[in-house]
Amino acid sequence: MPKNDKTDAFVTEITPRSQDFSRWYLDVVRRAELADYSPVKGCMVIRPYGYAMWELLQQALDRRIKATGHLNAYFPLFIPNSLLTKEAEHVEGFSPQVAYVTHAGGEELEEKLVVRPTSEAIIGTMYANWVQSWRDLPILINQWANVVRWEKKTYPFLRTTEFLWQEGHTAHETEEEAEAETRMILDMYAEVCETVLAMPVVKGRKTESEKFAGALRTYSIEALMGDGRALQAGTSHNLGQNFAKAFDITFQARDKSVQHVWGTSWGVTTRLIGGLIMTHGDDSGLVLPPAMAPYQVVVVPIGRENWRETVLPRAKEIRQELMDAGLRVTLDERDERPGWKFAEWELRGVPLRLEIGPKDIEKSAVMIARRDTREKQSIPMAGLAERLRELLNDVQRTLLARARQFREEHTTHVGDYQAFKEAMEGRPGFVIAPWCGTADCEAQIKTDTQATIRNMPLDGAAPSEPCVRCHAKAVAEAWFAKSY
Ligand SMILES: [Zn+2]
Repeated sequence: MPKNDKTDAFVTEITPRSQDFSRWYLDVVRRAELADYSPVKGCMVIRPYGYAMWELLQQALDRRIKATGHLNAYFPLFIPNSLLTKEAEHVEGFSPQVAYVTHAGGEELEEKLVVRPTSEAIIGTMYANWVQSWRDLPILINQWANVVRWEKKTYPFLRTTEFLWQEGHTAHETEEEAEAETRMILDMYAEVCETVLAMPVVKGRKTESEKFAGALRTYSIEALMGDGRALQAGTSHNLGQNFAKAFDITFQARDKSVQHVWGTSWGVTTRLIGGLIMTHGDDSGLVLPPAMAPYQVVVVPIGRENWRETVLPRAKEIRQELMDAGLRVTLDERDERPGWKFAEWELRGVPLRLEIGPKDIEKSAVMIARRDTREKQSIPMAGLAERLRELLNDVQRTLLARARQFREEHTTHVGDYQAFKEAMEGRPGFVIAPWCGTADCEAQIKTDTQATIRNMPLDGAAPSEPCVRCHAKAVAEAWFAKSY
């Protein structure tokens, strides 16, 4: 566990991304002060700058979750062990990762408690009490919470023992409604990833072996990281009636018969922050899309010894003017060289840097530098906020376009197994290949190449060639990748 060394707290060098992607990622997380290791193994501390990013994402998601008719609620952290064991496939899937509370209040508990790895069991138990008739449906509830899944190998944001997420849990009258909900949420997740994170994703269905434990089917969005590995960025599950049967969630239907509800659950997590870093970052550090930037603009006063008298007052006015216009702005008035400040805020990924010196004030202009393209231009102070807003929109668009282009350049289509294996070497990206639909083939491909089926896109074409490995008739064009 590397400790923060006070003496290098101001060092801005990070391992170049091209040299060691994994080291680069850890350096960026630490030096940009997004997160730190904690005394509890596998658990991270999210520092204010990282947490501000999570809050921006949370707000964007929460708005959409509510706009589609869902309400937020909160369920307990602890789940009686007997509830978790009610759904057999679910408990089997999660038991290796579960943490238990066995002692409390100075004595051993009669029944041990599970620290929630996910909340289907406790929420299903409550829904069974709340639902009597078809008039009580649908139930559309979301929860913002932390969950715990014991992990052997952890990685900040991408895989931590405790993480933050939202989990939606809905109950419906019919299978069609549940399926429509599952797919609507998947679309919403994809839209947030693309418009807020500027991170393009592939929407598709998971295979049986990769689906959520206890679900009928799982859909996912998959993104491609800068090192050519895929990241599962969110999942939406059609639970069918599995949990309704396990937890006895029944209702009197319109025809007076007693039926089980149809359920869904869906979630995205703090992992998306990791995805954001790995999608856009470069050798100098973070590159943040404006929608996810705690500070969209950093104001850096430039000047000689007396800059505090000559430049700072005007810099403060500009900061206020931009904040009044609704931009997120910070002013760096520390006693450091401007060049040092530039590197510092580049590392932190701030989309626009605004430099202001005595000459700029004379000209009634400021110098603007973009983090994404590093272009610099002088912009008049008149109408500044509006001009910066346009630039921020352009940065957001440019980052999405760049990430799309990267994905296209790292997506190949193969029909031959030798070509498949070669494509998976080094920094592969997505490989699209026809697959027969059997778990055997899927497992063998993983053994041979480490690649897994990320998903089968919803808008994918029907396969025209036989399975890439066994040559049996293919059922889908699957998207394979090595993944996080
Ligand atoms: Zn096959």
